[in-house]
Amino acid sequence: LFAGPIEFVKGVVSMSGLPPADRLEVCFAGRSNVGKSSLINALTGRKNLARASNTPGRTQEINYFALGESRHLVDLPGYGYAEAPVAIVAKWQALLKQFLQGRATLRRAFVLIDTRHGVKAVDEEILTLLDKSAVTFQVVMTKADKVNRETREANIAQVMGALARHPAAYPEIIVTSSEKGEGIETLRAIIATLE
Ligand code: GDP
Repeated sequence: LFAGPIEFVKGVVSMSGLPPADRLEVCFAGRSNVGKSSLINALTGRKNLARASNTPGRTQEINYFALGESRHLVDLPGYGYAEAPVAIVAKWQALLKQFLQGRATLRRAFVLIDTRHGVKAVDEEILTLLDKSAVTFQVVMTKADKVNRETREANIAQVMGALARHPAAYPEIIVTSSEKGEGIETLRAIIATLE
């Protein structure tokens, strides 16, 4: 589906370090432990492409991956990491803001929401930040296999309710399980068909 190599390009800590803006880009954002690394690995079919992000030292980096010849997959630092020092949080928030508002090649931002928890206050912050950016953003619900049908439906409804307050959000959400493979093909197809 993504013709060409899928590989790590570089970790970036400032806007000046970004690779040339010569490819269509999609980025992934989410709370620490939301299942972002697992999703990226499932999506790319590479077991260890994205490493678990709960290492404090890695939380400030924007990680770039080549997704075939024509796309970049951008793994944004996990937010809401409980033990992160205030100064580090402030630094990554500034970088994230610059990135979301200033990256012309960014076609879609996927915001990951844990199906067990729905949209939390810390997620609202990122949705509000995205409202002010020019990029289309879309919610991807993760770990769907971890909840029963009732919780799933209730939390999907909660997310849809939250999105109604964010008119710039893409109206459809994608429910996924990296563990079971649910929604992965759908997400892949969305990324592959973006222009
Ligand atoms: P990150 O911090 O957002 O990169 O999260 P990880 O991908 O490292 O996942 C955090 C934890 O959730 C790990 O223990 C994963 O094995 C688990 N996890 C991630 N995705 C899924 C999923 O789809 N289903 C289940 N059951 N567990 C998952």
